[in-house]
Amino acid sequence: MVKSSTETEKVSLGSARITQVRDIPVVAEYDVVVCGGGPSGFIAAIAAARGGARVALIERLGFLGGMATASLVAPISVFNYNDRRIIDGIPWEFIERLIAIGGAREEKPIGNITFSPEKYKLIAQRMVLEAGVSLYLHSYLTGCKKDGDRITHVFIDNKNGAEAIAGKYFIDCTGDADLSKLSGVPMQPMRSELQPASLIFMLGGVDVESLPMVRHSMQGVNYHDLDMRNILEEMNRHQDIPRFGGPWYCGVLDHGMVLVNMTRTYANMADNRQATHTECALREDVFTFVELLTQHVPAFKDAYLVMTAPQTGTRETRRIKGVHTLTGEEYINAQDFPDAISRGCHPVDIHSSVSNNQRCEFLKDAAFVPYRCLIAPDFPNLLVGGRAFSADGVSSASVRVQASVMGLGQAAGVAAALCYKTGVDVSHVDITELRNTLIRYGANLK
Ligand SMILES: Cc1cc2nc3c(=O)[nH]c(=O)nc-3n(C[C@H](O)[C@H](O)[C@H](O)COP(=O)(O)OP(=O)(O)OC[C@H]3O[C@@H](n4cnc5c(N)ncnc54)[C@H](O)[C@@H]3O)c2cc1C
Repeated sequence: MVKSSTETEKVSLGSARITQVRDIPVVAEYDVVVCGGGPSGFIAAIAAARGGARVALIERLGFLGGMATASLVAPISVFNYNDRRIIDGIPWEFIERLIAIGGAREEKPIGNITFSPEKYKLIAQRMVLEAGVSLYLHSYLTGCKKDGDRITHVFIDNKNGAEAIAGKYFIDCTGDADLSKLSGVPMQPMRSELQPASLIFMLGGVDVESLPMVRHSMQGVNYHDLDMRNILEEMNRHQDIPRFGGPWYCGVLDHGMVLVNMTRTYANMADNRQATHTECALREDVFTFVELLTQHVPAFKDAYLVMTAPQTGTRETRRIKGVHTLTGEEYINAQDFPDAISRGCHPVDIHSSVSNNQRCEFLKDAAFVPYRCLIAPDFPNLLVGGRAFSADGVSSASVRVQASVMGLGQAAGVAAALCYKTGVDVSHVDITELRNTLIRYGANLK
């Protein structure tokens, strides 16, 4: 406990507002503070710590992994393009560590990773702690303090009450751009048809051998359960069944256990009321689908519901308006940039939230993401990793997948450590040094 910071908080009750002044203890100070411990965030924290910075990682849940572990999103897509590893460095080191304890399996040639969510949590926390990162679990980012353009503190709420953490540089990996929003970064216009939210569920007692799992033998061709999809479409013509996608099945490497991705609804999951409604509505849908699956899919004849994901999965919410906004055209054509810091190789993958359909568009080659998409004008000590980076609805529909956001996290972490070491604003980082460091880490930027 060092000193106190004062936050003025406005609480809204309908149209009424309460202005509250809170005295918040500053509990620690770091060179780099990463908010959000999902695929982009925990990789960003490791990268920044290995770069020589003192790093804090703040996560609202009791474990790391974000959508991968909290929403049971599987597989981890995709590391390869035409059988060539595109996303490399710390992200692939993580996969190798997972494989080494029997927690992951690579599907060749495109490098989709089937994984065990529990082993994922374990390896992620091991790597973060080994790197010397200070981990704040169960800590919800609720605000920030600025001095001019610079963020000086973030506020977190946890069982200790409200706490402030001071930092020199901040990385927003909350998925929903929470820190960016709290600090006033302008956002991209919200698309009217956001990609749907989905509550993934786990079935046990499955005859896994006879089940058509997610297979991507070609780049981006999803192998969902076509037979079940035909049954659902036929039902949909005659009766009222919940909206569905896929269905896609993915193993968790445990005997008889399968994750099912098929519920979907429109929701802005960055709005608390919509998120609450969605959790309840999709839970109802899960029970309807479990019944249909056990009736119609022979491999599910004896299956039972093990669990729904702790949290409904979010495909799309806020994205920042950065120095550059990556367009679908630039991305699909694999346009290279002098400040390219990461890649992507998943097709543009847009799920409809108003129908049961999905649109996939293939890339001309493994694509590039420029550094300018991770920073916003006039925010000298803020970087954004993960799916909230500055992109339009097309390019982000590819980069949002887990391997690519890990690549963005790696770049944001390396950049933050370099800025700290050289004492420059994020817009003045030495791009050559940044790219060389990333290449030394193993990133494939050519
Ligand atoms: C249904 C569905 C299917 C998908 N299918 C695939 C697929 O097949 N393959 C694939 O690779 N990807 C898939 N994705 C996409 C992928 O899972 C996400 O885009 C990816 O996880 C984004 O990573 P991220 O680190 O940016 O954010 P997230 O994974 O969302 O992580 C953000 C982290 O920040 C934490 N956080 C958020 N707000 C706060 C706060 N205020 N305070 C503290 N902590 C906070 C969260 O708890 C979380 O841990 C799918 C997504 C969904 C929803």
